[in-house]
Amino acid sequence: MSILIKNGRVITASDDCQADIFIENETIRAIGKDLDMVADETIDASGKLVFPGCIDPHVHLDMPFMGTYSSDDYETGTRAALFGGTTSVIEFILQTQGDTLHNALKTWQEKSIPKAVGDFGYHMAVTDFNDDVAKEVVQMIEEEGISSFKTFMAYKGALMIDDGQMVQLMKVVKKHGGIVTVHATNGDMIDSLISKNLEAGNTKPLYHYLSQPEVTEAEASGRFCDMLNYTGCPGYIVHMTCEGALNAVRKRTQRNQKVFVETCTQYLMIDASLYEQEDGAKWVMSPPLREKKDQEALWSGINQGIVQVVGTDHCPFTLEQKAMGKDNFAKIPNGHPAIEHRIEFMYSEGVRKGKISLNKFVEVCSTNAAKIFGMYPKKGAIGIGSDADIVIFDPNKEHTISVDTHHMNCDYSGYEGWKVTGKTETVLLRGKVAISNNECHLNPGDGKFIPRGKSSMVI
Ligand SMILES: [Zn+2]
Repeated sequence: MSILIKNGRVITASDDCQADIFIENETIRAIGKDLDMVADETIDASGKLVFPGCIDPHVHLDMPFMGTYSSDDYETGTRAALFGGTTSVIEFILQTQGDTLHNALKTWQEKSIPKAVGDFGYHMAVTDFNDDVAKEVVQMIEEEGISSFKTFMAYKGALMIDDGQMVQLMKVVKKHGGIVTVHATNGDMIDSLISKNLEAGNTKPLYHYLSQPEVTEAEASGRFCDMLNYTGCPGYIVHMTCEGALNAVRKRTQRNQKVFVETCTQYLMIDASLYEQEDGAKWVMSPPLREKKDQEALWSGINQGIVQVVGTDHCPFTLEQKAMGKDNFAKIPNGHPAIEHRIEFMYSEGVRKGKISLNKFVEVCSTNAAKIFGMYPKKGAIGIGSDADIVIFDPNKEHTISVDTHHMNCDYSGYEGWKVTGKTETVLLRGKVAISNNECHLNPGDGKFIPRGKSSMVI
């Protein structure tokens, strides 16, 4: 099977040129002007942008949390991702405290392999670290293709490890070429603020926001960087939301340590004023939405190269699930639906509004995640030999975001009525047309696990 994509404007993290792309089976075989190969199928991309399939390294599918499960599973979640131009995701396996990493891996394989429509990898969340788990960490890197380890500095008693465990984990991960990622907020401070608010009868969603002030994230981000510097381990801070945390990293990176930062589309687009609305629970997530000044700081962090990745932290819950916390903000399941619209939002809000360049757009939505997490240049690139994961994007198409048209398994959109310019039109996953004419042509099981290598030193 071969496909020839003709006359597109090919954008990568570094290049911008008019070119044709020839694909044979799963792989890009040739890139050039007026290619004369004969293909089984030709796609005319005149007037369209052509860029590498995007990678969302922060999604939660079918995730057990707060007594329920996120409403998108591997089938609905990876399909919605493909509709938006995201061909690969990295999801989180959660170790149960007191149990092994391998048992957790098995649970996640059962729910992902038969169902995934798009490609996927796993971060391994280490929630309980000891000598036995240390051995398993090495096996994950060397044998299972899982080279990134998620940690939590919050959620004590469920997910959090202490600083001693963190440092020991970093030492093992550094030795074997992996990377440690973190949810960086000061859990003890947040827990006490939540308790005080509930005691005072402050139960509305606004108090979710007020219980996680900027300092809780800034302090933990700085502490994480200091532990990385002490151990020499490369690290990655997920879902950064605010100026204080960014400045904590900006200051530490002057000593030339390897720390990468991810933010998410919501922290660039919407702010904490939404928590004052009656339906504020729709946007309850951790860390919470912040202020306008934080959005500006994050855009500048992207352009300065301090923020390398834009993900989503996709973790949808239905309105019924969100209502679990109608009398107590601490019982609202955290997260919102986002996996589908990241690329269109980053193009419309970022590129079209002059905040980032086209090359930067590809860098933060695709290439950097591939490099940091050991998938480059198989993923995140349009190059000879790369997987033919390709997005053909109409830069001028106007449309409106709505629950009525999205493909995520969630009965609301956090962006209802938001007008967007630019739409994902055709998507190829490893040489197969996954999306065209507003339809998905792949099935559950077509998505493949991506065994990841140790190339966190590429970037
Ligand atoms: Zn998350």
